[in-house]
Amino acid sequence: MLPLLLALPLQTFASSDAHWTYQGDNGPDHWGELGGALENAQCAKGHAQSPIDINMQQVQHQKVVADDLHINYERSSLKLANNGHTIQATLDVNNTLTYKGEAYRLLQFHFHTPSEHQFNHQSYPMEMHLVNQGKNGQLLVLSLLIEEGKKNHELAALWEALPRIKGKTAVLNEKTAPDLGKLLPEHSKHAFYQGSLTTPPCTEAVQWVLFEQPIELSHQQIEQFRQLFPDNHRPVQPLNGREVDED
Ligand SMILES: [Zn+2]
Repeated sequence: MLPLLLALPLQTFASSDAHWTYQGDNGPDHWGELGGALENAQCAKGHAQSPIDINMQQVQHQKVVADDLHINYERSSLKLANNGHTIQATLDVNNTLTYKGEAYRLLQFHFHTPSEHQFNHQSYPMEMHLVNQGKNGQLLVLSLLIEEGKKNHELAALWEALPRIKGKTAVLNEKTAPDLGKLLPEHSKHAFYQGSLTTPPCTEAVQWVLFEQPIELSHQQIEQFRQLFPDNHRPVQPLNGREVDED
């Protein structure tokens, strides 16, 4: 049984499995029409959607300070699942962060290829999203851009366990699971903005925190993911006057 805290907001993820895809008739341009009634209307009608292309010449520096963000991630056992859209890891407790005095708990992380966010029109081979939830159900997603480089040893065991078939799962124990704290770039600036989930139902009021410094995966690791999901990214969405801050 889920703690009461989680029972409601998890619907945000679960309610919209209505046959959406990344290509073709049920692809991103049609997400708003899928499902019953207004289930996914935000995907088409929302004005604060994600991902976005971040113009580094236009980021604002005065509103966020480095002290606003404290991440306390560590190694904790997790369950991996191939849900047909991505590989998603669901975590047990232990991983928390605070942002502007609010506490959040890490619920899950997952991967996209190519990256969903862009910096100055540039996309990356992959992007990792770590989805955190606050006491009142509010969501904060940490984004790590992934570039091709050295083999990522922190993610190596997880990569070997990637479930290849939709519906399949795998478990990583405390020894094999990645230390998420060590995975994060040590000296990175962050970009902050208000957006949405990047998958149906595209729910808004999501706080985004993007590490500007990418992490590395090897060519082989990236190819391994692409064999399972050749393209699972949503295209960039209009900024509509939103402000992007930097610490
Ligand atoms: Zn995502």
